[in-house]
Amino acid sequence: MAKISDYYGSLVFNDQVMQDRLPKATYKVLSETVKDGKPLNLEVANVVAHAMKEWAIELGATHYTHWFQPLTGITSEKHDSFINPQPNGRALLSFSGKELIQGEPDASSFPSGGLRATFEARGYTAWDPTSFAFIKDEVLCIPTAFVSYTGEALDKKTPLLRSMDAIGREAKRVLALFGKQPVQVSTTVGPEQEYFLIKEEDYQERLDLILTGRTLFGADPCKGQELEEHYFGAIRPTVNRFMQELDDELWKLGIPAKTKHNEVAPSQHELAPIFLTTNAAVDANLLMMELMRKLASHHGLVCLQHEKPFEGINGNGKHNNWSISADGVNLLDPGTTPFENLQFLVFLTAVIKAVDEYQGLLRMSVASAGNDHRLGANEAPPAIISIFLGDELEAIVRAIIDATPYASDGAKTMDLGSPVLPTFIKDNTDRNRTSPFAFTGNKFEFRMSGGEVNLSDANMVLNTIVAKALADFADTLEESADFETDAKAYMKQVLTDHQRIIFNGNNYDEAWIAEAARRGLLNLKSTPEALPQYITPESVELFERFGVLSKIEAESRYEVKLEHYSKKINIEGLVTARMARARFIPAIIEYSSVVAGSIAAKKAVAPDIDTSAEEDLLTKLNSGLATITKGADDLQAALADAAAVEDSLKAARAYLTKVLPAMNAVRAAVDEMEIIVGHDYWPVPTYNHILFYT
Ligand code: ADP
Ligand code: MG
Repeated sequence: MAKISDYYGSLVFNDQVMQDRLPKATYKVLSETVKDGKPLNLEVANVVAHAMKEWAIELGATHYTHWFQPLTGITSEKHDSFINPQPNGRALLSFSGKELIQGEPDASSFPSGGLRATFEARGYTAWDPTSFAFIKDEVLCIPTAFVSYTGEALDKKTPLLRSMDAIGREAKRVLALFGKQPVQVSTTVGPEQEYFLIKEEDYQERLDLILTGRTLFGADPCKGQELEEHYFGAIRPTVNRFMQELDDELWKLGIPAKTKHNEVAPSQHELAPIFLTTNAAVDANLLMMELMRKLASHHGLVCLQHEKPFEGINGNGKHNNWSISADGVNLLDPGTTPFENLQFLVFLTAVIKAVDEYQGLLRMSVASAGNDHRLGANEAPPAIISIFLGDELEAIVRAIIDATPYASDGAKTMDLGSPVLPTFIKDNTDRNRTSPFAFTGNKFEFRMSGGEVNLSDANMVLNTIVAKALADFADTLEESADFETDAKAYMKQVLTDHQRIIFNGNNYDEAWIAEAARRGLLNLKSTPEALPQYITPESVELFERFGVLSKIEAESRYEVKLEHYSKKINIEGLVTARMARARFIPAIIEYSSVVAGSIAAKKAVAPDIDTSAEEDLLTKLNSGLATITKGADDLQAALADAAAVEDSLKAARAYLTKVLPAMNAVRAAVDEMEIIVGHDYWPVPTYNHILFYT
């Protein structure tokens, strides 16, 4: 068997390959581009493109593509072959520097939120040399940004890169005050991807899963996740084979897949790679999601990444572990004596300030139709943003606010009560699994993002809001004559002003909702409530000041998100009505006629026989039939009403307040029938069946 170390990264045009294959001078220029963001000239690009093409062809590639992330949230690619026909009837394989650094896909078929109306339809893709090119299915994929003819970002990567620049710049200003001049300051992300695997044959029977990614019907299974036996349980052999193949393919792509395990819900799993620089981490996550979906089919499985594939059990989240690093040193590492670590406290304070000031924007960044099913239910954090710091950091923050001395309890050792077990040092941050934004030792874990999303949005917002808080610090302290004293005074003020965002308790507790309201924290429960945060004057000012999004870009993204929300629910509504009429109503009628037939047959033989049980059943079926039919009619009326609303925010609200409840009514009626209709008559696989396969 091949050793992992031999094939790890074998499909990536990474730093090592560049060093091996590029002339020294070219490699040097390219490295400077990658490290310092210096522009790349065409001459250098030509040399790089040639080396890349030779490398790709050796590995069996025939095509190349500019791989980009339009606002749909998924990735896009258009394959061009390297073929360049010659007059003699043969073909050369060519790939120029221009083809490497710039592409021109037609932008008109991608959502632009109105940008298209104002600007030319043409769009450009531009190479992001900080994320390595790779080979996927015989295609050389070049990670690119996607912008309009006039330079407006039409994708998720461009603003993310801009936000990384912004936080790098502001963090350097702060570090300079500590006498440090790092070359590169960047944020890092390690996403934990949750997903379900179900059997392909079940999936094929469910139009709802096929078209919407989630089940729109389904009574609770007799057994859910209450036995808590699935989490970290032994992995099914089929699933294990899937995971092995996935790991192998990810490792070839240089994606450091690390931890895999069963999750809380039946048939749910998780994969976490080791963290990378943010843009590379987002690219890797998107590739990983794509591979998961593709490779599942090799094992007769389907991978579901939707935020809520099944009601009543956990859905899929994607914890976004986030930190800032300066030349590889983690700036959120408190060290052993955090109270004495002024630099750490300054960065910590900046994050606290940022999250409190822009809680609405952060909440907005994870809003989607799918995620609305998670946030606020008892599995994911609520829609209210708060920060968990853990006991030690909370005590430190308290001491700074109260200007009282802080005495650390020191590292606590734990005695496990048995001499054969080692004693170990207790982690200072215990795990609060209910917090939406938790400090976990040397990073923050933002837990609100959904399983299906592109993490660019959340990280673009996180980077920008922390850049702002760092800029505020630098603005205040750059002129200080007594830096240490002034920095402490500044922190005391900021922490006092923003302490309301810190909450170490149970976020699932009802009492927290009231307490949060008392503290004045936002509780934006749904996507239509959260999205307007994108374009508040404060948000627009923030994005413009840090060069992350122009006003028009922010507005267009807001429009795209609103439309996307409405379209998703519209599709769900149509599928609900269609399945009700085409699947469930006929099944109930069929079963009713069997029951009616049984009553008639019995009566024919023995007129006095008691058929009350069947009659009861028939009455229930009949009334269910009526409720479903009426529900489907109401739903179609609600869909028509919502579709007629012109204003996009009002339309989204109509989908939330009219269409979703109408869908739920149909579902409730159908789910009631599922329990009483004979198994052989039920037209789709049920939760019991789908979730507990062998
Ligand atoms: P958990 O206990 O939540 O599983 P882990 O320590 O295993 O926490 O890390 C979870 C994720 O956090 C992994 O993807 C890991 O690489 C990532 N991570 C660790 N350190 C950092 C960091 N400095 N920046 C970003 N992500 C990080
Ligand atoms: Mg985690």
